[in-house]
Amino acid sequence: MRPIAIVSLLLLGASGLGLAQDDDEPWLTLPLSVQGPPDLEDTQVDQWIDVVNGWYAPAHVRFVVDERRALPDDWLLLRNNRDRHRFERRLRGRRIHAFIVREIRDPWPSAATRRASKHVGREPSGLLGGAHIPAPNHRPDSYVIALDRAMPLALAHELGHVLGAPHHPDPTNIMSYGRNRSHFDEAQLEHFRRRARRLQRRRDVRPVRDAQ
Ligand SMILES: [Zn+2]
Repeated sequence: MRPIAIVSLLLLGASGLGLAQDDDEPWLTLPLSVQGPPDLEDTQVDQWIDVVNGWYAPAHVRFVVDERRALPDDWLLLRNNRDRHRFERRLRGRRIHAFIVREIRDPWPSAATRRASKHVGREPSGLLGGAHIPAPNHRPDSYVIALDRAMPLALAHELGHVLGAPHHPDPTNIMSYGRNRSHFDEAQLEHFRRRARRLQRRRDVRPVRDAQ
């Protein structure tokens, strides 16, 4: 009986997931600085990151929180695009930075926001669940903002932008604006892996201890 069981396990392994050929690939671990409301608990952050890592797991890419800081109260409500850009001065130390805030108003929606909304039959609401902000003088050269009540999906989506993914037309894809977003597709996952490897190779991110 035993050899048969092993054979069927192998078959499952080979056909279960498109990325099964990558099962032996080492995990690529990226350091994350998470800054948010002073009362945001570490355990809550850890739960969110676990969910985010579940979506990135088929790419063998994962995020590890290696810095936690509190944001002052007047940084938690963003009134416009200018408020989103002032986080640049809080970047330090070759990490991907995620800022968790309570409200992101968007009085002048960008073309990308209008397009992604239109794909799912909606108008921009004037509020955002998250934002991906370029920071060309830093490594890595962008950071993300996510709304606390839109976590962890908002963070997964914005980190997808950090790893080079544009918006996706499938409303169930995490890179869309759909209401039932649940996954990345295979091409996105392969792309994430390449981008994560490039961040490490160029030393845009510091090495982190990998507990895996
Ligand atoms: Zn987006």
